[in-house]
Amino acid sequence: MCADADLPANDHSALVATTGTSHVRLARNQHHAGYSLVILREHVVDMAELPLDQLASFWRDVQRAARAIDEVFRSKKIDYLVMGHRMPHLHCHLLPQHATDDPLRNVNIAGGPTHLPPDAFHDAVTALQRAWESSEPTRET
Ligand SMILES: [Zn+2]
Repeated sequence: MCADADLPANDHSALVATTGTSHVRLARNQHHAGYSLVILREHVVDMAELPLDQLASFWRDVQRAARAIDEVFRSKKIDYLVMGHRMPHLHCHLLPQHATDDPLRNVNIAGGPTHLPPDAFHDAVTALQRAWESSEPTRET
């Protein structure tokens, strides 16, 4: 993830936005429409290692990404998964749940895979980028 999280496109995803803390990426596997990732820019394996300000910034980016996903993909709910046993670099999967999804099934990030035609995937990235730009991150109160 250190090597390719900042690239405009890699085998797994495309870049939506970059903040001081994170890269936000749309997964190529769109089995769950809107499936995205927020990846910490710094190489850190586990959330337990983050100082408070960086932890807050990371989750603020996750929230902002979720708002953008909701706006574009009209999800009913977003599941947030922080795993990393296979890829030991802190990242959060944002897995939108839609009205047509069975709420009782287990979450599977490898579901599908469903790959959109290149034009449709590009349009989804562009729409998410617009939604990201128009969504204000939550400020400290
Ligand atoms: Zn790394």
